[in-house]
Amino acid sequence: MISSEYDALEIIGKGSFGTVRKVRHKTTGEILVRKEIEYTSMNDHEKQQLVSELRILRELTHPNIVKYYHDEHLPERKSIHIYMEYCDGGDLAKVISNFKKNKESIPEEFIWQVLVQTLLALYRCHYGQDAPKVNLFGSSKSPNVKGEAVIHRDIKPDNIFLINSGKTVKLGDFGLAKMLTSKNDFAKTYVGTPYYMSPEVLIDNPYSAVCDIWSLGCVLYEMCSLQPPFQAKTHLQLQSKIKLGVIPDLPDTYSSQLKMIIKECITVDPDLRPSCFDLMESLSIRFIRKEME
Ligand code: ADP
Ligand code: MG
Repeated sequence: MISSEYDALEIIGKGSFGTVRKVRHKTTGEILVRKEIEYTSMNDHEKQQLVSELRILRELTHPNIVKYYHDEHLPERKSIHIYMEYCDGGDLAKVISNFKKNKESIPEEFIWQVLVQTLLALYRCHYGQDAPKVNLFGSSKSPNVKGEAVIHRDIKPDNIFLINSGKTVKLGDFGLAKMLTSKNDFAKTYVGTPYYMSPEVLIDNPYSAVCDIWSLGCVLYEMCSLQPPFQAKTHLQLQSKIKLGVIPDLPDTYSSQLKMIIKECITVDPDLRPSCFDLMESLSIRFIRKEME
């Protein structure tokens, strides 16, 4: 029994299917979080989603992805316990709401950090474990999406966690992520949070990994403006705004490079939107230029 190895500590949040609790390992003292999921209220589709989340988590290891340790089935409690890395810096939604409350803007440096580290996590998801390193001089070819690729599909401030006094960014909550297999290149289920949802997902078109880039663009936009790029009173109005893809100007206090990247991510046509690879490559070229100046 894994659960007998841990002391249960306080509850830190309630998710859609259960509780997220801090736990301490009895001998090592290590602090983890335990997602306690009761499956009695789940339908078959949701159970399947849980099984796929567990499979994804087991295989995804990366310094910028919330680390998964193990899971345990407790049939007598009709629960599944998932043990994960505890992110003591909370999530980005909290950071944004704190800055908003204090009427302060988020330092540009921090926004770049979130951009770069989330891209590194997405590169691991989209191109798999054996993806080639991005060539710093910009002549490499975009890697093919392999059988093991994962689309997160629910990138939003609540799913981007922080540790190490905010210096390290960790992508988490793969509840809606879905394996992209070579047999099934496009997932066609309607999921995601409307504010950050890409137009192709919204209109139920086939979609690919760049839907995560759209959502990342929306998150970065919100970090600059302290509000999401698309807002509306009704779901229908929100949909039409997202489909048009017209965003209010970003605050002038941010650099034109940052603003340009965010605008590129929020490109309505997925074929014209940069991939994770494109963004990393253009970023590395920018960094080299800066070094040489
Ligand atoms: P759901 O997505 O179903 O709403 P979450 O898994 O996102 O549920 O968890 C709910 C709460 O627990 C949120 O407040 C979230 O910030 C917190 N939380 C989830 N995972 C972690 C973690 N690894 N470290 C710290 N806090 C977490
Ligand atoms: Mg969540």
